[in-house]
Amino acid sequence: MTRLIIMGPPGSGKGTQAEYIARHFGIPAISTGDIFRAHVGGNTALGVEASKFMDSGEFVPDHVTNAMIRQRLGNTDVGAGFLLDGYPRTTSQIDALDGILSGNQQQLDAVVALTVGDDELVDRMLRRAQEQGRSDDTAPVIRRRLELYRDETQAVVARYSERGIVLAVDGAGQRENITAKAISAIESALGKGL
Ligand code: ADP
Repeated sequence: MTRLIIMGPPGSGKGTQAEYIARHFGIPAISTGDIFRAHVGGNTALGVEASKFMDSGEFVPDHVTNAMIRQRLGNTDVGAGFLLDGYPRTTSQIDALDGILSGNQQQLDAVVALTVGDDELVDRMLRRAQEQGRSDDTAPVIRRRLELYRDETQAVVARYSERGIVLAVDGAGQRENITAKAISAIESALGKGL
């Protein structure tokens, strides 16, 4: 059973790393951003609601996101564990996740925190905007997402650090090297029964 979280500022490559790390451990990567984008694409009620926030870089309200994650973690495919990507992002989402996990008699194993400098983040997102055309990869929205990361999500990393489960991984460099560093950090944490 491997229950992991990957965190990192927007543009840090956490979605890409999440896919490779999850595949290595044979667990699903659960990305709140991808789930929201799928709903937006499918024009569901949740998608219509979420897009109001996503397009300006704001967080979707906690009660919406928490309910979605509670439902997702009730799926049978999380039997071997999961890797959460993009959740929790606020301290109140931590509380919600703690409630979901303790209700299922489950515990987190580790939190991978990717670190990347600000200039590199903006460069990567502007490049991604050209390649993928994500509607929230425009300069003002990127600025807002970085600001929210600093104001809200760094406190999440700090809370998990107090629990001693954060593994800081340098997110600069080659994709393969970053994946390898993250996997070996996770394996040694799991080995130590962290
Ligand atoms: P990034 O990390 O690059 O900002 P994501 O794909 O993880 O990209 O998220 C895109 C958007 O989806 C966020 O800007 C936000 O609007 C919404 N979102 C994703 N996860 C959450 C969350 N845990 N809480 C609130 N909103 C979220």
